[in-house]
Amino acid sequence: MDVLVLNCGSSSLKYQFIDMENEEVLTMGICDRIGIDGSIITYTPHGKEKIKKEVNMPDHKAAVEFMIESLINEEDGVIKSMDEITAVGHRVVHGGEAFSKPTIIDKVVEAAIQGVSDLAPLHNPANLVGIRACEALMPNTPQVAVFDTAFHQTIEKKSYLYALPYKYYKKHRIRRYGFHGTSHQYVAKRTADFLGKNIEDMKIIVCHLGNGASVCAIEGGKSVDTSMGLTPLEGLAMGTRSGDLDPAIVQFIAQKEGLTLDEVITVLNKESGIKGVSEISNDFRDLEKAIAEGNERAILTMDLFHIRVAKYIGAYAAVMNGVDAVVFTAGLGENNKVVRKEICNYLGFLGVKVDDELNNCRAIERDFSAADATVRSLVIPTNEELAIARATKKLV
Ligand code: ADP
Repeated sequence: MDVLVLNCGSSSLKYQFIDMENEEVLTMGICDRIGIDGSIITYTPHGKEKIKKEVNMPDHKAAVEFMIESLINEEDGVIKSMDEITAVGHRVVHGGEAFSKPTIIDKVVEAAIQGVSDLAPLHNPANLVGIRACEALMPNTPQVAVFDTAFHQTIEKKSYLYALPYKYYKKHRIRRYGFHGTSHQYVAKRTADFLGKNIEDMKIIVCHLGNGASVCAIEGGKSVDTSMGLTPLEGLAMGTRSGDLDPAIVQFIAQKEGLTLDEVITVLNKESGIKGVSEISNDFRDLEKAIAEGNERAILTMDLFHIRVAKYIGAYAAVMNGVDAVVFTAGLGENNKVVRKEICNYLGFLGVKVDDELNNCRAIERDFSAADATVRSLVIPTNEELAIARATKKLV
């Protein structure tokens, strides 16, 4: 059984084609600049060099066609016909309150994804375009939607409700939804397996630290709280997102800078976070470089980032009345030992203690706690594509 996993953005389409017998990635790739001049497909068939082709991709249907061609072509294809694609798993960002688990896509599900599009206007419409392009080209192949929000549907109302007039929740479903759910769930399960424990008996805090970043409290395998909210803007300081702030700042900036509401929200989404504070970059690697050169602002930016993560971990230890493991994942969490160490330095009171030698690692599963730590600290690489492929396989 071979599963195709798609992550469709407004102008890009990332994909992995996975043999689910042994969970081997047969081909992974990305169609970039869809609908823009200079569109390009880049893919890597298993065990081969990366291939780059400039092709004309005016829309997502064309991108899906080129993607399929990358799997089937004579030179470096990994299958002979489209029939060998058993199922397609789609990452869908927002499932609203309608979806608490992966779901086979039909017209009703499509309408529901469309129905919550105003909660994720940049993502859901793009996800739907990918779904429809696949349906057009593979009408008999089952399509599955795996939602970023689904894992968090176990969060209790006292935690997901904002302290706003209740009518806004009733009328507009304004509440915390949370994102990165597929990643948090996968990493929590891997953590329990890695430690040889039953996830039912564990309290885990997962820190998904990438360009987008969120923290999740997972008790007995269920999400009980998470830092992103109605949209991915809430919570930690991120690559370009502000994360938490006093909502009155929105009006204040609008007045002082003469910006519209939409423009301020764009500033909070695209010009803030690490990029905004440092005025250097949204890529943490650039900040690392600047810190090595003694750049004060870069140091301040990272300090601000670390303490925000630590505050959420402290809060979530309180929410769960304890914690067994603090886990780091995603680009930064997996690769940056300084970030892990700096965050853990705040957590001594919980019983977190780092072994610096063990922490000197990248992108591998590792418990880097000191021998006398009473709370484990770990690196567990995430794999959202594999999680989506597994969920798809299970359903079809
Ligand atoms: P997203 O999926 O949200 O775009 P990622 O999980 O890919 O984000 O993480 C991106 C961030 O992780 C970047 O800011 C980058 O600095 C950091 N990162 C990624 N790879 C590495 C690496 N090999 N070494 C250090 N930092 C890395």
